[in-house]
Amino acid sequence: MGGLDDLYQQLILDHYRNRRNQGRLPDPTVAVTHNNPLCGDQLTLELLIEDGRVAEVRHEGDGCSISQAAASMMSEAVAGRTLQEALEVVEHFRLMMHGDAEPDEDLLGDAVALEGVARYPVRIKCALLSWMALKDAIQSAESGRTPLNTQS
Ligand code: ZN
Repeated sequence: MGGLDDLYQQLILDHYRNRRNQGRLPDPTVAVTHNNPLCGDQLTLELLIEDGRVAEVRHEGDGCSISQAAASMMSEAVAGRTLQEALEVVEHFRLMMHGDAEPDEDLLGDAVALEGVARYPVRIKCALLSWMALKDAIQSAESGRTPLNTQS
């Protein structure tokens, strides 16, 4: 583990201990709950969508530090973006976690710190949980379908 990894680990711990946008919304446009049974992670994600943008993001959950820190990082990365941009951010994150894209801080913000998790295949689903929940939430809001509310 080099200096960069230490920095990234600090960032993950900081988001885990001080989760950004944690909680629930009074009147969300869409709410989804996703689980990662491999680790026992659980996450409820709520969005307020206004004028085609993610106006507010809230998340509440239980699980390992990676899953919960990732939700905090995700919420900061997509707040204020259009739905299309948010989906592009999700896709970039997914590609990074599979080693198919370089970390891009303009898109991902602090979530670039999760790149190292890609080296631990059993933890990738932990890191992806909140991002897949976001994708489900946006796609169900756009299409009017019921959220999957399922395992990611
Ligand atoms: Zn986990």
